[in-house]
Amino acid sequence: MSSETQSENIIIVGASHAASQVSISLRQGGFVGNITMIGDEEHVPYHHPPLSKEFLSGNKTIEDILIRPQSVYAKANVKLKLSTRVEAIERATKTVLTDNGETLPYDKLILTTGARVRHLKIPGEKLENVFYLRNSEDVLGIKAKISDSKKAVIIGGGYIGLETAASLRKQGLEVIIIEAMPRILQRVTAPELSTFYKRIHIEEGVRIIEGVMASAIHEDGTELKVQTVCGQEFLADFVVIGIGVIPNLELAADAGLTTSNGIEVNEFCQSSDPDIYAAGDVTWHFNPIYGSKLRLESVPNATEQAKTVANHINGVEKPYTALPWFWSDQYDLKLQIAGLSADYNEIIIRGDIDSGRSFSVFYFKGDTFLAVDAVNSPRDFMFGRQVLSKGLQIKKSIVADIEADLKSAVE
Ligand SMILES: Cc1cc2nc3c(=O)[nH]c(=O)nc-3n(C[C@H](O)[C@H](O)[C@H](O)COP(=O)(O)OP(=O)(O)OC[C@H]3O[C@@H](n4cnc5c(N)ncnc54)[C@H](O)[C@@H]3O)c2cc1C
Repeated sequence: MSSETQSENIIIVGASHAASQVSISLRQGGFVGNITMIGDEEHVPYHHPPLSKEFLSGNKTIEDILIRPQSVYAKANVKLKLSTRVEAIERATKTVLTDNGETLPYDKLILTTGARVRHLKIPGEKLENVFYLRNSEDVLGIKAKISDSKKAVIIGGGYIGLETAASLRKQGLEVIIIEAMPRILQRVTAPELSTFYKRIHIEEGVRIIEGVMASAIHEDGTELKVQTVCGQEFLADFVVIGIGVIPNLELAADAGLTTSNGIEVNEFCQSSDPDIYAAGDVTWHFNPIYGSKLRLESVPNATEQAKTVANHINGVEKPYTALPWFWSDQYDLKLQIAGLSADYNEIIIRGDIDSGRSFSVFYFKGDTFLAVDAVNSPRDFMFGRQVLSKGLQIKKSIVADIEADLKSAVE
C-alpha cells in the first residue's frame, strides 16, 4: 500500500443507491484512499422503492428505509457531504465545485446523479397540493396531506402511479387515475398485463380514465379541479403526477462528456473520460444480453453497475453483463420482471390472468425467449431469470403446457 494510493481521492456525486454500493464495494475491494460522497439531499442513501409503497402507506420513517446505517459509512471511512450540490466538474484541473463554494480535487469521479421527475407542463402544475414523487421529501408532503383528504387524482398510469393508487386506497382514499395513453402501463408491458392491472385496480375501487390527457389543474375552494382535454373535470383534495423521469446528466454534459439518453459509459461504466465513471439511472449503457444500448431505472442495475465501477477502480476488469430485472408491489400482488420484453411478438400466459391473481407471462421474439412477468409466481420469475442470465433458450410448446414442469422446457 503506497502513500500515493492512500492520498488518492474518489468523489461520488449523488448519495444514491449506486453511491452506497460503490463506496462500500471500493473498501471491500481494498481501496485505501479517500472516498467522499456528496449528495444534495439531507439523508444518507435510502431505498427508493418503498417511497410509493410501504413508506407512503405505512408508518415507516426514513431511518427504517436507509440502505445502510450512517455508522457503516463512518466505519468504512467514507466522508459524507450531505445537503450539498455539485455545480460543476472542471476536468482540466480534476476538481468539482460545490454550491457552498468548495473546490474539491478528485483522481476518480463517480457520477450517480440518478434521474428527476418529468414535469407535466400544464396550468396549475405548481399549485400547493400538487405533488410529484421521487424522493422522501415528496412523500412526506403527500403523507402530511393524506390525513385531511378524501379524494386524490393521480395523473399517469405507470408503475409509480399504480403503486401510489394502491397505497392511497389502503388508507381509504377515493382514487382516480388519468392516463394519456390508450392503456395504463402501455410503455412497459403487454396489453394483457395492462388489462389485468386495470381489472385489479377497479376491483380495489380505483377509477381509471385512459386515453385522456389532463390539461389543467385549478383551485376550486379548498379542493383542486383537474380538467382534461375532453372537457371532463375531476375534484380532488390533492393530485399526484407520475409521468416518468429524465436523467440528471447536465453535470456530465456541461463538462463535455458524451451524453445521449444518459451519460454514455463503456462495459466498465467509464464515461468518455476514463477517470469519470457513472452508475445507475443516469447511464446509457450497452447490454450484451439484448445487444442494445439502454437506460434502466432499477435498483438492481444501480447496484450491479456500482460493483462494476468499484471493481474496475480496484484493478478488476469485470464487465457489466447483468440481466435487467424489476419488481412492483400493488395490493397483494408482487410483480417480478426478468429481462426486457420490448421487442416481443408472442406471449405465452401460464395461469389465470383473466380472473386470478397469480400467473406469469413469457415473452418471445420468434423462438427467442426475451422476458418473463411473474405475478405472485416467484418460481416462474426465478426460472426465467436464471435461464436468461445463462443465455439459455426454452421450448415454447412446454411453456404453453400448464401441466408441464418448466425445468423440462430448457433446451
Ligand atoms: C417511487 C419510486 C418507486 C420505485 N420503485 C422501484 C422498484 O420497485 N424497483 C426498482 O428496481 N426500482 C424502483 N424505483 C427506481 C429506483 O429507485 C431507481 O432506479 C434508483 O433509485 C436509482 O438509483 P441511482 O443510484 O441511479 O440514483 P437515485 O436513487 O436517483 O439518486 C440520485 C441522487 O443524486 C442526487 N443528485 C443529483 N444531482 C446531484 C448533484 N449535482 N449534486 C449532488 N447530488 C445530486 C439526487 O438528488 C439523488 O439523491 C423506484 C423509484 C421511485 C422514485
